[in-house]
Amino acid sequence: MSRFSGKTVVITGGNRGIGYAMAERFASEDANVVIASIEEHVYEAADALVATGAKAKGFVCDVTNISQVKELYEFAAKEFGSVNISVQNAGIITIAKVEDLTEKEWDATMNVNTKGVFLCCQEAIRHMRGNGGKLINMASGQARDGFIYTPHYAASKFGVMGLTQSLAKEVALDGITVNAICPGIIKTDMWDYNDRVWGKMLGDFGPGELMESWVQNIPMKRAGEGRDVAGLVSFLASNDADYITGQTINVDGGLIMS
Ligand code: NDP
Repeated sequence: MSRFSGKTVVITGGNRGIGYAMAERFASEDANVVIASIEEHVYEAADALVATGAKAKGFVCDVTNISQVKELYEFAAKEFGSVNISVQNAGIITIAKVEDLTEKEWDATMNVNTKGVFLCCQEAIRHMRGNGGKLINMASGQARDGFIYTPHYAASKFGVMGLTQSLAKEVALDGITVNAICPGIIKTDMWDYNDRVWGKMLGDFGPGELMESWVQNIPMKRAGEGRDVAGLVSFLASNDADYITGQTINVDGGLIMS
């Protein structure tokens, strides 16, 4: 299936984890793929995609830096001629008791997870006006239900839902859809950190044990994989989702049903 032939997708945080799984999925459907991340190792990830036959480029970009974000979208448009899909996936988390949570952690989390999503949407929209496009923003199950020791992360992801709805209303007549997604428990580096740190704070959990116990709360009784999230994102980026905008959709094996 080649739903994305001739389309260019930008994916922030696309060098590893969920973002890389999305990049693989878009590449497998013939998209031009630009992956961005904060470190130079993004070029190795792009090379790995190219080795599979993909049309892929890497770009170093801190999503909190407006100049670098502008350069990212200019790069994508110059390399491939247009920007049609943009996935605002880059994100960070820390876990701390409320008295220990620093202002620096609060600011960094809000900056990457919420401001970074906004800056990328803003720049992508500049390139999409007149042509239409699809924006997909990374929220989290924590945009539905805040969790213990992560008030900054939950606030940042609730913020993503708000900006998604607001932008969806503003750009609807330009043929641009804006949606958000809420993954549950997905096996990535971020989840390894969560398992380790929450595991220590919530009890005497060994490596992997906290995750295993939480997975028991998922009706499907398994953690998600990047490809589970990539399936939803590719649907929202496709023409089958042309009449869907301003929505926030869970992809979590049924963990949260509200
Ligand atoms: P990872 O920690 O595996 O990857 C995070 C990605 O974000 C990396 O590519 C990283 O780049 C990039 N990144 C971090 N800060 C910046 C920045 N300032 N500018 C550009 N890129 C940046 O995370 P996941 O794949 O697990 O998560 C991806 C998204 O999904 C995040 O937004 C996360 O909050 C969300 N999510 C994850 C869940 C999970 O269970 N894993 C559940 C719900 C939501 P680099 O490699 O260069 O550091």
